[in-house]
Amino acid sequence: DATSFAVRVAPLGGTGLVLVLAEDQTERRRVEAVRRDFVANISHELKTPVGALSLLAETVADASDDPDAVRRFTGRMQQEAARLTSVIQDLITLSRIQGAEPMAEPDKVVIGEVVEEALDAVRMAADAKQISLVSSGTEGIVIMGDESLLVTAMRNLVANAVAYSPERTRVSVSVEVTDNAVEISIADQGIGIPPQDLERVFERFYRVDAARSRATGGTGLGLAIVKHIMTHHRGDVTVWSKEGSGSTFTLRLPRPETRERQRSGENTDR
Ligand code: ADP
Repeated sequence: DATSFAVRVAPLGGTGLVLVLAEDQTERRRVEAVRRDFVANISHELKTPVGALSLLAETVADASDDPDAVRRFTGRMQQEAARLTSVIQDLITLSRIQGAEPMAEPDKVVIGEVVEEALDAVRMAADAKQISLVSSGTEGIVIMGDESLLVTAMRNLVANAVAYSPERTRVSVSVEVTDNAVEISIADQGIGIPPQDLERVFERFYRVDAARSRATGGTGLGLAIVKHIMTHHRGDVTVWSKEGSGSTFTLRLPRPETRERQRSGENTDR
C-alpha cells in the first residue's frame, strides 16, 4: 500500500506566508478498509441464513401434502434460524465489549468458578464425542475483572477445543500464577491450525476451514470476542498449535496482588 497524504494549505493572514499541513492518511485508510470488510462480512453472514430460510419456506409451501418433507424442511429452518441467532448474539457481544470503558468497574472473580461454568456449558458436546474435560491449578485464584465476560471468553475457547477435536481425546484447562499474571491455558489434542493461519484466527469472521466451522455451528467471531475481552482486561491471548496434534490457547490476566504487594513493599520500606 502506497503512503498517501492529505494536504491542507492555509494563507497566514497579512504575512504573505502560506501554511502547508500534510497529514498521513495511510492508517486512516487502513482502518476504513477494515471497517468496510467487516460490514461486507456481516452482510454476507446474515444474508446466507436468511436466503436459506426463504428458500426453505418456499419448499415447505410446495411440499405441504408431504408430512415427512415438511418435518425435514422445518427442521432445517430451525437450524438456520439458530445460526442467525448466534451470529446476531456474537455481534452484540462484540460491540458491547468494544464500546465498554476498559475495566470501569472490576469485581473480584474466582477463576475456578469461571472455569467450571465454561466447562459445564460444553459438557454435553464433549460427552457426545467422548472427549474428557479436565482442569488443574484453579483453586484459590482470584483476579479483578468482569466475570460474565471472562466466562464468555473461556467458553468460546473450550467450545472450540471440543469442536475441532476428534472423538476420545482430552481437553485440559490449567492455571498458572506467575509474578505478575495469571495464565489460563486451554489445550486440546485436535486438528490444530496451519502456521500461516495462526496470526489471523483472532480476526473477525476469519476461519481456517469455513465449511467445517459452519458445520460445527461456528460464527467465525468466537476468537475475536476472546481477544477483545482480554484487551478489556488489559491482558492478552496467545496461541500455540501444531497441525494434526493440537492447539493451546493461553489467556494472560494481570494480577492485582502485584500492585498490592508493591504497595505493602513500599510501606515496609518507610
Ligand atoms: P468459529 O466460530 O469458526 O469457531 P472462531 O473465531 O472461534 O470461529 O475461530 C476461528 C477459526 O480458528 C475457526 O474457524 C477454526 O478454523 C480455528 N480454530 C479455533 N480454535 C481452534 C482449535 N482449538 N483447534 C483448531 N482450530 C481452531
